[in-house]
Amino acid sequence: MIRAYTIASGKGGTGKTTVAANLGTALAQYGRETCVVDTDMGMANLGLVLGLAETPVTLHEVLAGKASLQDAMYEGPYGLKVVPSGLSLQGFQNADPQRLKEVARELTDRCDYLFFDAPAGISTDAVIPLAVADEVLLVVNPEISSLVDALKIKILTETIGGTVGGAILNRVTPESTEMSRRKIEQTLGVPIIDMIPEDADVRRAAAARTPVVVRSPGSESSKAFRKIAASLAGFPVEKEPGPTQEGFIERLARALFRRVSYD
Ligand code: ADP
Ligand code: MG
Repeated sequence: MIRAYTIASGKGGTGKTTVAANLGTALAQYGRETCVVDTDMGMANLGLVLGLAETPVTLHEVLAGKASLQDAMYEGPYGLKVVPSGLSLQGFQNADPQRLKEVARELTDRCDYLFFDAPAGISTDAVIPLAVADEVLLVVNPEISSLVDALKIKILTETIGGTVGGAILNRVTPESTEMSRRKIEQTLGVPIIDMIPEDADVRRAAAARTPVVVRSPGSESSKAFRKIAASLAGFPVEKEPGPTQEGFIERLARALFRRVSYD
């Protein structure tokens, strides 16, 4: 079963962080033990969009061999586990991206689902995340530069022995349907898993440092995120999840399970 995904795109600003934060949160809302890791170590912002305030220990320290993974794990919405990256350049320089493989192994043991938010570009710190997950998911915008860069990432991933599971077409507008789904699939050589519309609620949620699936659960983008999350986890889209869906006993069981598996 595929449980660890790297969200990549080549191009910056396509929506990788947004997708990682919202798919992670949606699976946590569905009661799955889920973890998101910010591997964009130079331009970290996953923790910020998930509303984390103080994160004194981050992936930087873990990859520098100065802290344990447990110390760099914070709780996000619905019990989502978040491993943020640090904001300092010094921390970035001290982090050894090669250690990410160990982090991936350790987290796979702890979580049902795991998302690595990848950096843009093709430097070493951007290439390693492509090899540590079971599958890479490409986030593509309906524009030619995004497609070309995503294709590069696909080729790079396969060259280093990784697998690309598909693409998520983000920021779709009525005009962009011109660039047809089939044409994009043909260019990339992978299926489009689903499409997420351009949605002002996504931007509002980012400004409020909350995932859109929490802030505006009824929005079109939230419905798309939940649908993708459900399909990745292999279950049919359920009714809108929320605090009422998980009862006291389930919450207690989950908390106990976490305790036992971390101790
Ligand atoms: P990346 O991680 O690929 O650099 P981000 O997730 O940070 O990209 O997104 C870049 C910007 O685009 C952010 O301001 C984000 O709120 C916005 N954005 C992403 N997806 C959407 C969407 N579907 N609709 C509207 N805005 C979006
Ligand atoms: Mg990002």
